[in-house]
Amino acid sequence: MRFDILTLFPEMCEAVMSESIIGRARKAGKVEMNFHQIRDFAINKHNQVDDTPYGGGAGMLMMAQPIYDCFMKVCDEAGTRPHLIYMSPCGKTLTQERVKELSKMENIAILCGRYEGVDQRLIDEIVDEEISIGDYVVTGGEMPAMIVADAVSRMLPGVLSEPEGFMGESHYASLLEYPQYTKPPVWHDMAVPEVLSSGHHANIKKWQRERSIERTLERRPELLENADLDKKERAFLEELKKNVK
Ligand code: SAM
Repeated sequence: MRFDILTLFPEMCEAVMSESIIGRARKAGKVEMNFHQIRDFAINKHNQVDDTPYGGGAGMLMMAQPIYDCFMKVCDEAGTRPHLIYMSPCGKTLTQERVKELSKMENIAILCGRYEGVDQRLIDEIVDEEISIGDYVVTGGEMPAMIVADAVSRMLPGVLSEPEGFMGESHYASLLEYPQYTKPPVWHDMAVPEVLSSGHHANIKKWQRERSIERTLERRPELLENADLDKKERAFLEELKKNVK
């Protein structure tokens, strides 16, 4: 998969995406990421990419033209028109489900806003989808874009060392992950649950599934509506619910 990130801070994105799992995946050619400086497409003598909003109000807005020209160059370079996402607190909140769908695309471009955002005409003209990372506002779209690119990349074949290692993780199957423990077996008088050292795989799996269900009910009960539970797990959940009441 190829990502093209349109930003005023390409170095910031490059630094984040050169580390750890995603950095290694890029080096191994599992995912391609290109960072494009929107300011290179400014056509005024001060390389200005923002201006005051019509109707007044605080702050500046990113102008349509430099972003449009930058995206046209990306389309040329990619040899296709990528699916263009604008990171925005006005977008739909990102979910693991949407991440799964995005991971099936070949070409994704992400526009990072700055200042008070972007001229609406640019959004109407070329943006395919607006995505929010949550109900709060950060100063720029770079970190939100890195979240999307990271979440999507780790679902691509060969990016995680364990094939399909994400399948047991929180949100993949509408459950939160069970608690996990590592060495030593006792720390600050707290022992690791016995079953986890029993070597009995069926019991371990059952314990983990039940803790997942318990934690999801406690913290994010609405997720359970879409969770794929078998008959015994459903009965376990019903018992838990009785105790909650
Ligand atoms: N004035 C905008 C509003 O009230 O909706 C917020 C602009 S914000 C300061 C600047 C940029 O940060 C946005 O254009 C967007 O790209 C990014 N951004 C801020 N919060 C975000 C969020 N929750 N999700 C995705 N992007 C966000």
